[in-house]
Amino acid sequence: MSKDINKERPSVGVVGGGMLGLTLALRLTQAGYRVTVIEAASNLGGLVSSWQLGSISWDRYYHVIMLSDLRLRSLLEELAIEALIEWRVTKTNFYTGQDLYPLNNAWDYIRLPALTLIDKVRLAATIVYGSRIKKGKKLEAISAEKWLTQLSGKSTYQNLWRPLLRSKLGSNYSKASAAYIWSVIRRFYAARRGGMKKEMFGYVPGGYQKVLSVLEQRALSEGVTIKTGLRVSSITKGINELTVDSKEDSLKFDRIIDTCASPIAVDHCKALSEDEIKAHSQILYQGIICASLILTRPLGKAYLTYITDETIPFTTIIEMSTLVDSAVEFNGKHLVYLPKYLPVDDPLFAAADEVIEARFIAGLVRMFPDLKRSEILAFKISRTRHVVAVATQNYTSKLPSMATSVPGLYIINSAHIVNASLSVDETVNLANTGAEYFLAQEAGV
Ligand SMILES: Cc1cc2nc3c(=O)[nH]c(=O)nc-3n(C[C@H](O)[C@H](O)[C@H](O)COP(=O)(O)OP(=O)(O)OC[C@H]3O[C@@H](n4cnc5c(N)ncnc54)[C@H](O)[C@@H]3O)c2cc1C
Repeated sequence: MSKDINKERPSVGVVGGGMLGLTLALRLTQAGYRVTVIEAASNLGGLVSSWQLGSISWDRYYHVIMLSDLRLRSLLEELAIEALIEWRVTKTNFYTGQDLYPLNNAWDYIRLPALTLIDKVRLAATIVYGSRIKKGKKLEAISAEKWLTQLSGKSTYQNLWRPLLRSKLGSNYSKASAAYIWSVIRRFYAARRGGMKKEMFGYVPGGYQKVLSVLEQRALSEGVTIKTGLRVSSITKGINELTVDSKEDSLKFDRIIDTCASPIAVDHCKALSEDEIKAHSQILYQGIICASLILTRPLGKAYLTYITDETIPFTTIIEMSTLVDSAVEFNGKHLVYLPKYLPVDDPLFAAADEVIEARFIAGLVRMFPDLKRSEILAFKISRTRHVVAVATQNYTSKLPSMATSVPGLYIINSAHIVNASLSVDETVNLANTGAEYFLAQEAGV
């Protein structure tokens, strides 16, 4: 897109200052539009924003970059920070039958209990087969449960796939289509290097706060206006403009792109048609409660521990300090995340922090009986209700378009990431394609 800031070009308000809103704003400014980003929080980033945890400032939610994240890496290249990425081979564990098992090579895999040799052969074949399917659209017609049972067998589904699906989708797991699990297989398979099949994950030193500060500076220098601390309450259509209202301000634009999750976006604009409201409201969202812990010592050596024991109150352990240089970034301490994905109306969202903390620590001590309370220096909980749209059966055919019936108003959000799992790479791709879509609509193409 060529840079040609033209005062006659329409002004665009972008609601939401996450990676999607910021990248979209950058692209539209580069195409000559006058763009303002409006973010509710006091800092930018949404799901990739950082917070203070004891003496450490790091991402609120765990984030890694994969070798295959080419759209994200291209953006980082544009921002001149791609070369800073630290790449590491990471380890994976599996917690099943109340024991931890390493899962890093074929030998570990063969020794894994809970599955027979035949189950293991079928599981490996499922993963290889899934990773070779190029387009997931056809898989939208079949449920993940049916597809995985057909390919891997009933016992592997019960003992492995079902707990893994539950770990990502909670009680919504039975509603996911095969396209969902296919997209997860492809993303993780792609993280494994060529013949070695070792997992390579990367991070930018300083974490996403570094990425965000460079992206913000670039957006500002290209002409984007950024307003934080403005929670949009409504978007209304006037004769010649759209008005964005928040408690603090009222702003007028020629066009608006709302990047918030569908239930939030439709709540902003009462002028949307009933069909549009229905289409956005039927999208099933999954939320997350995620604890961040600072420990005096490492838990183990694995970046990722998958948990199939459904009595453990969180679904994975992410030991960030096995990837990130803890001496440089964490004052020599160890950062661990304990996520639990939940339906948006799960009562745990309303539970007090102390209740969740007690439950999560009890679960962690069950897994690591020698862990002492005094070794946990900090514990902080983050909650977000609308994180990811669940890829239900025939998802694409029910998805509302990015343009709306309200002239000048677009809703472009992560629900438009189809047949792929939610990631910053897919988010950057959506920003690029969303900007192209917007420009084509404006040009009347
Ligand atoms: C636990 C977790 C782990 C993840 N791990 C990885 C990973 O390892 N690698 C990876 O690539 N991706 C990962 N992701 C995915 C990644 O975080 C997302 O793809 C990306 O951040 C989505 O960006 P977004 O802008 O679409 O959404 P968001 O970040 O949710 O942005 C939406 C923004 O809108 C703002 N907003 C909401 N309501 C209003 C309002 N009324 N007015 C104004 N603003 C409003 C919000 O504050 C927010 O800033 C992870 C996500 C989670 C939750």
